[in-house]
Amino acid sequence: MRPPERWPLHPAPAETESLSSWLRRIAASYGMYSSELLEHGLGHRELSDPELDLNPPRDLLEELAKRTGLDQHRVNAMTMAGWVPWLFDCLDPAPGAYETYVHQLSVLLPPKRRTIYTPRKWLPWLSETGMRRGCPDCLESSPTLLLFWQLPLMASCQVHGRRVETYEGRPPDYILWATPAHDQRPLPEPLSLMDRRTWQAITTGSVDLPRYPVHAGTWFRLLRTLLDELTTAQGRYGRQLEDVRRVWEHCGHPFRAGLHSWQPFETLHWTAQQQLLEAAAAAMEMIEAGSVTALGTSAHLFRPEPNPRISDGTPPGTLTASAGAQERPTLDELLKQAADALDACIAAAKEDPVVAQHLFDFARYGCRSDQSLRGLRQTFAELQIPLDFLSQTENQSPFA
Ligand SMILES: [Zn+2]
Repeated sequence: MRPPERWPLHPAPAETESLSSWLRRIAASYGMYSSELLEHGLGHRELSDPELDLNPPRDLLEELAKRTGLDQHRVNAMTMAGWVPWLFDCLDPAPGAYETYVHQLSVLLPPKRRTIYTPRKWLPWLSETGMRRGCPDCLESSPTLLLFWQLPLMASCQVHGRRVETYEGRPPDYILWATPAHDQRPLPEPLSLMDRRTWQAITTGSVDLPRYPVHAGTWFRLLRTLLDELTTAQGRYGRQLEDVRRVWEHCGHPFRAGLHSWQPFETLHWTAQQQLLEAAAAAMEMIEAGSVTALGTSAHLFRPEPNPRISDGTPPGTLTASAGAQERPTLDELLKQAADALDACIAAAKEDPVVAQHLFDFARYGCRSDQSLRGLRQTFAELQIPLDFLSQTENQSPFA
């Protein structure tokens, strides 16, 4: 029997739920397994859960949007492919992928200081072993699995303020936690803050940093850059060796998470990945506090705004009577600041595709029609800002 065009039952996906999890819950509402729903309703029985969550066939995603009435981009965002180019540059491992993703920015160490490794078949945040992580409290109360639990991006759950843990099995029917008594270690505040920022990137598309908000695409690359800086060969640290050692002492883990020879963060055991995430969080805290030397070109993002006229939290230009006692920039000064910032941004966008993408996403907020979007592309072309990232995908932003 052919199912109807629009399924009568289709539970709404949870925020950042994975496609395999959502399909399993839809199938369960008909008393079916998701493989049966895939075979009889969608003609794709062959797809495993990891394949569904990574990069499933486009026609399947379109069919699911039709069957459930959900926005196409919300369906896409339940897969890793829906996060190109925000989280991933692309999903086909390319020879220069590591350098492109991890070496365009620098935080702790000056640019070009690190060894540029070229791991084979590398994709950021993804490993072939496909480690399964989850929050014990979340899985106790709901059968929903989040897409981002599959990635070593966050070490804690934002709802329950506890560590995520690894498991085997197939929740919700069967789950075997790696630590049956559960990980009771308290969550360090810097790690909690870093995970909140990552969660903000995932759910809103930008992150509030001490200096100014950055685009989610920049945040994911900043974080991955810092993780690379903390694992690079010891001989590359130069005079900053002591600073890097203090970061590790501050978080209480062995230097370089005990690594004797380099390997990409993605292939490390979850224990070492957690230690590296904690060290990255500690480094961010120490940079903000000025207690560690950071020579990277993006280090300033983690330091508080030095200009007292802006750092009091009042947006420039909102002049109020009570704020009158403090000296305010004139409108001319504000316009000049804005023009200077835009010039600097355009210059950076010509060189750096991540900045170009950031600027494009920012500018497109105002585009309500295809025509205005075409106009925006034209403007970028006139400014000679490459829009290569657009040709990689015609994805809509996955951010709500
Ligand atoms: Zn939780």
